[in-house]
Amino acid sequence: MEIDIERQQKAREYARIRRRLSFVDLGIATAGLLIVFATGLDKWLRNAIQNISFLSWQPVHGWYPLQVLLYFLLAILVYQLITLPLGYYSGFVLPHRYGISTMSLKSWVNDLLKGFGLGLILEAAAITLIYGLLAFQPLTWWLWVAIIMLFFSVIMANLAPILLFPLFYKFTPLPEGELTQRLLALTQRANTRVRGIYSMQMSNKTTAANAALMGLGNTRRVVVGDTMIDRYTIDEIEVVLAHELGHHVHSDIWKLIISQSLLMLGGLYVANLILHGVVAAGFYLSLMDAATLPFFFLLTGIFSLIVMPISNSYSRLIEYQADEYALQTTHKVDSFKSAMTRLANQNLAEIEPSPIVEIFFHSHPSISKRLKHAEEFAHRPNYAFNASASAPS
Ligand SMILES: [Zn+2]
Repeated sequence: MEIDIERQQKAREYARIRRRLSFVDLGIATAGLLIVFATGLDKWLRNAIQNISFLSWQPVHGWYPLQVLLYFLLAILVYQLITLPLGYYSGFVLPHRYGISTMSLKSWVNDLLKGFGLGLILEAAAITLIYGLLAFQPLTWWLWVAIIMLFFSVIMANLAPILLFPLFYKFTPLPEGELTQRLLALTQRANTRVRGIYSMQMSNKTTAANAALMGLGNTRRVVVGDTMIDRYTIDEIEVVLAHELGHHVHSDIWKLIISQSLLMLGGLYVANLILHGVVAAGFYLSLMDAATLPFFFLLTGIFSLIVMPISNSYSRLIEYQADEYALQTTHKVDSFKSAMTRLANQNLAEIEPSPIVEIFFHSHPSISKRLKHAEEFAHRPNYAFNASASAPS
């Protein structure tokens, strides 16, 4: 198994185009917000909505939940409509041109609408929660939001494999066989248990392969894409399963939830200071003013740009440790390397992105780093000893 030079050329091109498109998207959002602030559109919309009498219900003085919701809905719809052509190009046209997507336009639109609807419900709930807490707990709202979000993330991580992902993918338990036996052996050696191994139908959407650990508690499971099951050797899939099991053994889903909650807490605290500042300076009527929404979007955008390299660095560390776990438990260095090589070729993954790109955008170490890791593992002085002492025969 060798890295396909021609595919690598395409992979670099594909990554470059996608990066440029995300910069264009960022540019549109920034320009849009600047126009809104410069023209006073944010306040104009609030005044217009204020005149609609049936939206004037206020559970506490100064908080108009229905006005805030309508404001949010209009802002999101306008943004979605403006960026729809870009989304169509980067989400449908481009992946087809590069042979990654296998979706029909109809099913792509279907997924898009489902994702949009789901996002809308969750975001509307979050907005209502935030502005309600701003009304009732103007000084400690940020702490409450962070705590509630933490609980919500835990519940969502638990429910996602049975509630959310099945909306987009079909899951079937892998039948008893070589693969389930191998996973069972791996979990027994790790003295742990996962609730099952599922095949995820990805081939009707993409040519790319993937696997993942999903769920918390009673829903935790290892999921392998049918695009991987079909094309990889049993040894290669075993190494991938061991990597996913590594995430489980290291409690990585918990680590991610907690680290993200801490970052969120910091971000919300800073947002609290800024929000009180701009309201005190007379830019808005109150903390719960619907016109603060565009400003809130701006803060959220800046926050995610700052957090992106931080959470990606942490994710790469976690992924490195899962690779280490896979190598240590299986000792199948060659299968690890061939699985990585297959992934690079199949998923059109750039094996060696520029360091700055990797730091900002990549949640996993580059394939070349993962291959080097395996190489380095094979040359560790005690590898041969370990291999004979603890590898299964
Ligand atoms: Zn992983």
